[in-house]
Amino acid sequence: MKEIILAKCGELVLKGLNRKSFEKTLIKNLHAALSPIGEFEISSIQSTIYIDGKRDYDIDDAYARVSRVFGIASLSRAAEVPKNMDDILCAALEYARPALKKGTSFKVAAKRSDKRFCKTSPEICSELGAYLMKNIDGLRVDVHKPDVLVTVEVRDFAAYIHFKSDPGAGGMPYGSGGKACLMLSGGIDSPVAGYMMAKRGVSLSAVHFLSPPYTGELAKEKVLTLAGTMSAYCPGIELYLVHFTEIQEQILKNCREELFTVIMRRFMVRLADEVAQMSGADALVTGESLGQVASQTLSALTVTNAAAKHIIFRPLIGMDKEEIVTVARKIDTFETSILPYEDCCTVFTPRHPKTRPNLAEVELEEQKLDIEALVARAKEKITKETIQ
Ligand code: ATP
Ligand code: MG
Repeated sequence: MKEIILAKCGELVLKGLNRKSFEKTLIKNLHAALSPIGEFEISSIQSTIYIDGKRDYDIDDAYARVSRVFGIASLSRAAEVPKNMDDILCAALEYARPALKKGTSFKVAAKRSDKRFCKTSPEICSELGAYLMKNIDGLRVDVHKPDVLVTVEVRDFAAYIHFKSDPGAGGMPYGSGGKACLMLSGGIDSPVAGYMMAKRGVSLSAVHFLSPPYTGELAKEKVLTLAGTMSAYCPGIELYLVHFTEIQEQILKNCREELFTVIMRRFMVRLADEVAQMSGADALVTGESLGQVASQTLSALTVTNAAAKHIIFRPLIGMDKEEIVTVARKIDTFETSILPYEDCCTVFTPRHPKTRPNLAEVELEEQKLDIEALVARAKEKITKETIQ
């Protein structure tokens, strides 16, 4: 029996006049996700997306790929049958039989987008319901809370039968919500922050700060691997590398040790602003979570924000580490994130960073540095990596 994939759109059905453009982005993303395994016919009718290979294809692989595309609330495999009642009855019995064991309760739902079909939706439901009851022993009808919902959708060229759905990736289509620049460290948090923004439809570029010779080649490889893993959710993510050694050495040499971290973070956002501009992004994203470390107190974040031109999104701000780790495992970044290579932030960590810095004292301290020249020199050396 021929099978196709049916996907139900999530929140984008609420988008009113913009819905068409959201749908267009979603279909483009589906084509991109499926392109490594073949060419697909993808069309959408009334918030259902029909996905079918142009030639033979591995439906398990295709199903797994579709399940990772943002903007889809749920998906199911469906049998495609000719549009006449006899074929629908026989196919539904054969296709749904494995799920309709003795003692199972079920309900039939029908939708007709082809209103010329010879039966109405209630007629399809009652005929198919009776047919299943007659042919399978021990079934029960439950219209309120059935164990199995057998759905028949009658479309222009065929009818589709499905009875089991799985949750999709949710969220909004990637790229439908603008673009942001993710500050990607080698840690656990920032890939999760990127994932959460991507899920809301924001496409990403990423910036990583490294401090050779204090940070080594392996630390850089680790970030490349993380960006590679993220590209499953953030197709086409670009990674920019910023050499940060001179800036850190200058802060260390000239500024009060307890303000080192907050001053360093202000330089990071200044350079992330530059990368955002280079990559066409309109916001920054970090993996900060309130109170996690000294640089993530309310006062420290306020002082850091003051150096930024773009809005900074911190999607993990109210999450506990454990909750963040759960997502990191789900998106397959955790194992890479815990590899023990040094990060430029940890190389010069002060013994007692100030947890309540205020902007005036930090700005005064920064006067000991030539901010513009330092940023300009670091900017000159920014490189863009290719992500596999
Ligand atoms: P993570 O697990 O993401 O490394 P963290 O708890 O170690 O987070 P910090 O080191 O204070 O926290 O960093 C906070 C945020 O600053 C990170 O989530 C990331 O967005 C950004 N950041 C830190 N170090 C770097 C870096 N080397 N390159 C790019 N961004 C960084
Ligand atoms: Mg870190």
